[in-house]
Amino acid sequence: MPQLYSMFMKYSTSVVSDDGEIAFEFSKGVGRFPDRPTDSELQAINDFVQKTGRPEEHPDVCLARPDLGMEHVIVRSLDVPLEKRGTDHMAWCSVCGTWKFGEGRLVWCVGDGGLRTFGHDCSARLLGDDRWRAMNDEYTQREAAKDAENYLMTSLLTLDDHAKSLETLELLARQLEDAHKVLFTALPSLANTLQRLDGKLEVTEERKANTPAGFRSGGQSSNFTTVLVGQLVGRKFLQKTFKPSSKIRQAALDLRITKINNETARVVAEDWILEFLIRHSEAELIEQARRVRAAIRKAESVKAFIHDAAKFCTAHNYEAIQRWALHPDSPVSSSFRLTSKGLSVREYGEVGSVLPYLQQTTEGQ
Ligand SMILES: [Zn+2]
Repeated sequence: MPQLYSMFMKYSTSVVSDDGEIAFEFSKGVGRFPDRPTDSELQAINDFVQKTGRPEEHPDVCLARPDLGMEHVIVRSLDVPLEKRGTDHMAWCSVCGTWKFGEGRLVWCVGDGGLRTFGHDCSARLLGDDRWRAMNDEYTQREAAKDAENYLMTSLLTLDDHAKSLETLELLARQLEDAHKVLFTALPSLANTLQRLDGKLEVTEERKANTPAGFRSGGQSSNFTTVLVGQLVGRKFLQKTFKPSSKIRQAALDLRITKINNETARVVAEDWILEFLIRHSEAELIEQARRVRAAIRKAESVKAFIHDAAKFCTAHNYEAIQRWALHPDSPVSSSFRLTSKGLSVREYGEVGSVLPYLQQTTEGQ
């Protein structure tokens, strides 16, 4: 193994044993981390490994076999791109002291300050399944808490914006609810027809054609063609249960996790997280991040719902409905009149009503 010798030259204090073999004392890296390595130190090591495929050549990586009686902490998962190593296929696995590391963990020893590569299989064997699993669980939890913290750092400052933009939509939601009521209570059969058509305003036209010359039966034959007269937008408006304003209120309530607003300095978000961690566990921080994420998703989905529903009460749709109703083969016998305020509908000569025309005030929000 040629790399053994170069490592020996670079890092080790060595002795030559009686039989002429080089004996190693892999003192490199021991004691280098009296404190747990920082994320940026670990990132630098990972960058080096991803570039070279050689964790054992990084000066911070310790090669000595560990005293497994000491406390060990997994600090990072490590995946070595072995193809970058050329002919010497595997990296150094400290826990067993052989060249068999490909993927595993960087493990920090609290006792001697060394940072080592531990392969999965060797670790499970030498540390015992239970201890290795507990170390991995602790690591996974810590990483998730770190992610939660990073997520909260940025998202806490946006909650207020989300809540405010929901508030501006509440008036629009109420207008839509009124319009919905008009359509579904005053003109139920039209509403149901539109709902059933799911936005496709189609009519079936009957075209009569003469039998081509040379065919026996005389007269005319019918040919039915389905024609799409218009395509409605804003189909969320046609949902039977339509209560966007209560959805908005609930979504806004869910966002009231903190009182932090977007003008508050970032340091306040930091303080909030720190204070949270004083009273709660890492697991609860992870849960808190999950709740914030869910609240933001819900706010976004409510906004999207209203933006979609609002498109129903627009000139585009009224013109399409009108074109459809005026078609001689239309399935509904209604009369429509588009005014500056909205759509006047007369259905079966019984009910006259107006759906308000909404300006598209929600665009770009
Ligand atoms: Zn090993």
